[in-house]
Amino acid sequence: MTQLHRANIYCRIVAISLLGNVLLTNAALGAKTVDDALMSDTSNTEDWPAYGRTHNEQRFSPLDQINAKNVSKLRVDWYLDLPETSALAATPLVVDGVMYFTGSRNIVRAVDAISGRELWSYDPEVARHAGERLKVAFLHGSRGVGLWGDKVFTTTRDGYLIALEAKTGKEVWRTLTVDPTKALYITGAPKIFKGKVLIGNGGTENGATRGYVTAYDAETGNQAWRFYIVPGNPADGFEDDTQKMAAKTWTGEWWKYGGGGNAWNGFTYDAEFDAIYIGTGNGAPWNQKIRSPGGGDNLFLCSIVALDPDTGEYRWHYQTTPGETWDYNSNMDIVLADLKIKGREVKAIMHAPKNGFFYVIDRSNGKLISAEPISEVNWASKIDLASGRPVENPAARYQAKRATVLPGPLGAHNWPPMSYNPETGLVYIPTIHQSYTYDDEETDIENWRSPDWQSDAPGDGIGLGGGEAIQLQPGVSQGSLQAWDPVNQKQVWSIDLPALWNPGTLSTSGDLVFQGRADGVLVAYHAKTGEALWQFPLGLGISAPPITYSLNDRQYVSLLVGWGSGFASFGGGDASNLGWEYGKHMRRLVTFSLEGKTDLPKLPPPAVPVPLAAPFFEVESKQATDGAALFGQCTFCHGGGVVSGGIAPDLRASPAVLSEKVFDDIVRGGSLREKGMPSYESLSDNQLSQLRHYIREQADLPATN
Ligand code: CA
Repeated sequence: MTQLHRANIYCRIVAISLLGNVLLTNAALGAKTVDDALMSDTSNTEDWPAYGRTHNEQRFSPLDQINAKNVSKLRVDWYLDLPETSALAATPLVVDGVMYFTGSRNIVRAVDAISGRELWSYDPEVARHAGERLKVAFLHGSRGVGLWGDKVFTTTRDGYLIALEAKTGKEVWRTLTVDPTKALYITGAPKIFKGKVLIGNGGTENGATRGYVTAYDAETGNQAWRFYIVPGNPADGFEDDTQKMAAKTWTGEWWKYGGGGNAWNGFTYDAEFDAIYIGTGNGAPWNQKIRSPGGGDNLFLCSIVALDPDTGEYRWHYQTTPGETWDYNSNMDIVLADLKIKGREVKAIMHAPKNGFFYVIDRSNGKLISAEPISEVNWASKIDLASGRPVENPAARYQAKRATVLPGPLGAHNWPPMSYNPETGLVYIPTIHQSYTYDDEETDIENWRSPDWQSDAPGDGIGLGGGEAIQLQPGVSQGSLQAWDPVNQKQVWSIDLPALWNPGTLSTSGDLVFQGRADGVLVAYHAKTGEALWQFPLGLGISAPPITYSLNDRQYVSLLVGWGSGFASFGGGDASNLGWEYGKHMRRLVTFSLEGKTDLPKLPPPAVPVPLAAPFFEVESKQATDGAALFGQCTFCHGGGVVSGGIAPDLRASPAVLSEKVFDDIVRGGSLREKGMPSYESLSDNQLSQLRHYIREQADLPATN
């Protein structure tokens, strides 16, 4: 077994010069082996070696130097400016005093976890390498790196898995994990166990895709196994009996649409049962009437699937949303805990997928123990405990009639991870409260075509008409943080948050829960009561969960501050109103301690983009209408209605749109490709003009907020 060497990295010499030249040497802490033992050691407080801290994915730390009594004294200890512009969504990892994280454009950095000094950085130059595939690999941030032995493992949004030397950041191997003709992308952190690196991908909505996860050998990058989440075309023969079994739950010609199920997040290794659990995605397309017209459960969509970690062989599954048709994927975190339920010790899985229920599952056999709603739900009245199946509201399937369904496709809980505190017995869940109108009255079910990013004809989207996200009650917050009792399946406390989408949580033995917010404030709550004990404005919307670690008897709390990820791209106006305008605010890694003495340089205040006035640009309404259709492919970054949520420029305020030449250089010529703007070379002069007219039409609309 190789080791994460810390040699030069940790010969950190702190010079307190003055005239006396006193030298203090920070003695090496001793090299640790990064393996399953380290990632299973819940008593280790120096490190944060894996995505959810340890293999149980609890995001709980036994550290209590910072606690409910003294957290009001928490100050910035150090920070590192990250001069890039896109989302920071990652969980930093810490081992042996070195912190590793991914930033904008999949750049990986290693920094000294005591001083914040950068030790190395690795830039996969993804914007340049992705080329045409930038069009489908959105500007989402990566959720993190993985560690094993002497290596750091990272992914790129265009589908590579890369191994780096932990000591130097030098590339050791890379492998392409996706078919580059498909519109697949990676945002998830690789999951590492038993010398294997597991990764899936996203892209269910981007075209005909058949979801899978792949495990690679950590030393060599050679493929160890692959598990397909949905069955392929029976005419090609099934890979094994599991695929044959799954195919019995599908109807029609699902393989023509791919089926979906992509696993882009939610991987947990269970050392006690020697199993890997995969949270699986929704169907491609969303509308089940298209992909499986005769109904059926459509295995293994929206499920937790337990696999053999050595071979990838199927063990069991639990499907949270059989026959899903609402984008209710189960890609959310899968948390392991020992619970005492009705006098019985249960080795439990806890899981809060998009569909609004909180599931407790017996991981010895995959059987459901309990499930109750954590938010407003109307697609099902309950989960039947005997069958483990939801009791559906038939109207929710929008059969011949538009239906307003709760929760909406953002889910009651999305990927921002929950944390579980075994001392309070509570789970701290970032929660969304929103409904959505599902409607396929205008959709041509028979002749529907999957999106094809390489074709001039863009395809037919998700298999629904344009739905509408609806706030449940005007004036009432759509986002909350709640503490949930998984044994009694009930809410213990809940805090309304200023915005709908907020990042993941951390809980500690200091009776604390930490959570950043979309409005840029990091808050520490009392874990038992939800009382806000400390808050710190960081000057930019937060998308990443905090971590904690301890070195030289000092406890640190650290997080990446960099607006972006899902809400900023899909959120349109709601996200825009937060004022995190593209490129205006420095991204940072910020670390706190009780002994911190650092002041964080102030950032510009939030500001909502102001459309440019350009009376000389006369909008032709026919051109603008045609441009609106073309702009569809631009909305994931630049926002619906050209209202950017902040992950890309708000084009209503862009002078580039006013110049035919500059606009052409950017859109067809690719002059901003390295910043993530793909080039659309096949657009005609007239189409370019249509886009400009549409953007300017939107810019000229009176402000609505
Ligand atoms: Ca989805």
